[in-house]
Amino acid sequence: MSTDVTTALGTDWLLADSLAPIAAGDVLQPLYDGAVRGKLVLPFCEHCSLTLDLEQQVCDGCGAHAIAWRSVEPVGIVHAATVMHRREPGLVLATSPYQILDVELDSGHRLVMTTAEPEPTTAAIGDPVHVTFRDLGGVQIPSARPIPDPPVTTRTALSQTEARS
Ligand SMILES: [Zn+2]
Repeated sequence: MSTDVTTALGTDWLLADSLAPIAAGDVLQPLYDGAVRGKLVLPFCEHCSLTLDLEQQVCDGCGAHAIAWRSVEPVGIVHAATVMHRREPGLVLATSPYQILDVELDSGHRLVMTTAEPEPTTAAIGDPVHVTFRDLGGVQIPSARPIPDPPVTTRTALSQTEARS
């Protein structure tokens, strides 16, 4: 356990630093190391390149045990969304319900994460998100940031008007 008690509350908006995972030696260390470089690094089967779940040790496709961690495009869509109502004084710092999103990445991976910041609106299934990171006690945790709808151009607005008439 960490003996650092100087950052009791920490810098994350959601969780206390004491809940930070220990990155060194963790099965997810390649992900945490990549995040330090601003990269989303996820596991693939080294043999057949099938996407693997985060802690998956054996490939479903070919049975290989070798894992290759590669950086992927940090974009995807919301596959499922839920709102967590939770009060854990000293551990959960958020005072309002917060979202948990199951994100389907363009790479094919599925990752469950919170949002990068408190979001005023709840994500809908299919919403595009960008995966960024929350700093939890010095460990970078993947988290989602909604990609806003592109501004409606005059041409789009006109064609929608025409479509309705
Ligand atoms: Zn494989």
